[in-house]
Amino acid sequence: MAKQPIITVKNLVKNYGDFAAVKGISFDVYDGEIFGLLGPNGAGKTTTLEIIETLRDKTSGEVTVDGLSIDNDANKIKQRIGVQLQSAGYYPNLNLSELITLFCGLYGIDKTPTEMLEKVALTDKAKSKYKELSGGQKQRFSIATTLINNPKIIFLDEPTTGLDPQARRNLWDLIREIRDNGTTVVITTHYMDEAEELCDRVAFVDGGRIVGIDTPNHFIDQLVESGFERKKQVKMANLEDVFINLTGKEWREG
Ligand code: ATP
Repeated sequence: MAKQPIITVKNLVKNYGDFAAVKGISFDVYDGEIFGLLGPNGAGKTTTLEIIETLRDKTSGEVTVDGLSIDNDANKIKQRIGVQLQSAGYYPNLNLSELITLFCGLYGIDKTPTEMLEKVALTDKAKSKYKELSGGQKQRFSIATTLINNPKIIFLDEPTTGLDPQARRNLWDLIREIRDNGTTVVITTHYMDEAEELCDRVAFVDGGRIVGIDTPNHFIDQLVESGFERKKQVKMANLEDVFINLTGKEWREG
């Protein structure tokens, strides 16, 4: 089946004063995929994401999201996407259940806190406050809030930064499950093992330009075919495997 673009970016440019942060990039995100934007600090990933999310103005170029233009239909686009809030966005004195109720009210959507917390394995934390959660739980909660409006696309900006290997793998499972339920996922990450494991396709951004876009496997195969060889013999396991082996895989960052 042909892949249908759900996001189309054409010649996108963003200047901050006379500094060009995004220099005319073009790419598509396909419906139902996990798409990774990768690249060094300052490459322009967050800027690009925030323009697609209709949270930041572009300088020029065209962006459509689910067939809608960011120029004319920003409000409709906002209703169809889910964006992770920075933690500062959560009222400190409300518990998770109350926060979900608040978000449902804001979106005008009739969902129960239990239903949303179940999706991210946090029902036992319903009465806890956000600040009382572990790093992994905080990320899961914020992913739950992105799902409240049944979005077609969710945007996750470095969702696993600072998490331990178990929490990171649990989050990968959650993100795959969200994709398998039909939601397109756009993610940024600095972890290449994560991108390799999780993303259906990745785009490398450097200095405001896309320098490559493909599936992780194809990128790797091409590099190997070009004669690239790793200097060191790869070991059969790494220290992260040891960590998981010693501490287990179950949900328990509590
Ligand atoms: P990181 O991996 O560090 O999150 P990034 O790829 O997301 O980086 P951006 O946050 O998009 O990069 O920033 C791209 C460039 O634009 C950087 O050089 C940054 O300093 C600059 N920039 C971002 N926001 C602004 C702003 N509001 N005003 C001026 N310059 C900005």
